[in-house]
Amino acid sequence: MNKTVDLVVPCYNEQEVIATFYNETNAVVSKIPGYDFRYIFINDGSRDNSIGEMKALAALHDEVGYISFSRNFGKEAGIYAGLKASTADLVVVMDADLQHPPAMIPDMIAGIEEGHDCVAAKRTSRTGEGAVKSWFSSMFYKLSNRLSDVKMEEGAVDYRMMTRQMINAILSLCERQRFSKGIFMWVGFDTKWIPYENVERTIGTTKWNFKSLFKYALDGIMCFSTAPLRMVSWMGGVISLLSFIYIIATIIQTCIFGIDVPGYVTTLSAVLFLGGIIEFSVGILGEYIGRIYLEVKDRPIYIVKETNIHETKTDDPVE
Ligand code: UDP
Ligand code: MG
Repeated sequence: MNKTVDLVVPCYNEQEVIATFYNETNAVVSKIPGYDFRYIFINDGSRDNSIGEMKALAALHDEVGYISFSRNFGKEAGIYAGLKASTADLVVVMDADLQHPPAMIPDMIAGIEEGHDCVAAKRTSRTGEGAVKSWFSSMFYKLSNRLSDVKMEEGAVDYRMMTRQMINAILSLCERQRFSKGIFMWVGFDTKWIPYENVERTIGTTKWNFKSLFKYALDGIMCFSTAPLRMVSWMGGVISLLSFIYIIATIIQTCIFGIDVPGYVTTLSAVLFLGGIIEFSVGILGEYIGRIYLEVKDRPIYIVKETNIHETKTDDPVE
């Protein structure tokens, strides 16, 4: 019997590209013997006619499934919904914009057949991406890999094929604030990396801006590491030590040379410096407390408005 593969494709305002994505992907996967492919498109609260495009495809092709959210929940929620709805032996997570070349799918299958649990794509170049974005991205990897026990692969994108065992492991992590790049690494298993040249987006536009990327980077660090909290303790310790040395030095100085002229500048600098550090520390604590608050509320990761995938749990309106 053929093995089954589900292609999980999160889409947000991708009406121009969905049909092309299907055609190009189908041209590749229909030639792979021994595997049956199915599509799980996730309409992540698009404001355009993405859902119409998905329904049109589903009407023509039995293997096309879609899940439509009640609003935009973000790509991470889309990936989670797709993995949850999948019942296949293997799952591929890929973007709709054809920046993840479908031509790599046969190599991914070959990697799984070699015995790997996961075959993931890794960009070797960042052509078409701004120098500033590339620099921040490389800083993010350096910082997060230094702070966190979970090491993230630089250049890794969310394009990968995984076995059922690994998908079940990912689904067992039921945190609300999902950072897939970290989760994929955290669950472990044996990953084969396939390098590829960055493909520029030809249709549609990127959904990221600087603010959302910054938030994403912060999530990446905060969700997998408590090192910033430890840094606050260290900072407090070092400042206390320095103050202690300063006090002793002042006492000795006063005893030997008598009372000095009052140092307003020194006092003001110390107060402002400490004020800044305290605000910064409260900010870091706040970031963690905010995340605890969101987790404790235990809200669903996404809400389904409509879907044509009924044999799985997703026909439940709430995940
Ligand atoms: N995406 C999504 N929800 C969002 C933002 C993006 O499902 O809130 C999807 C988007 O439709 C695309 C993929 O995530 O299929 C990657 O987005 P994009 O191409 O904008 O990111 P980039 O390639 O620029 O990193
Ligand atoms: Mg893209």
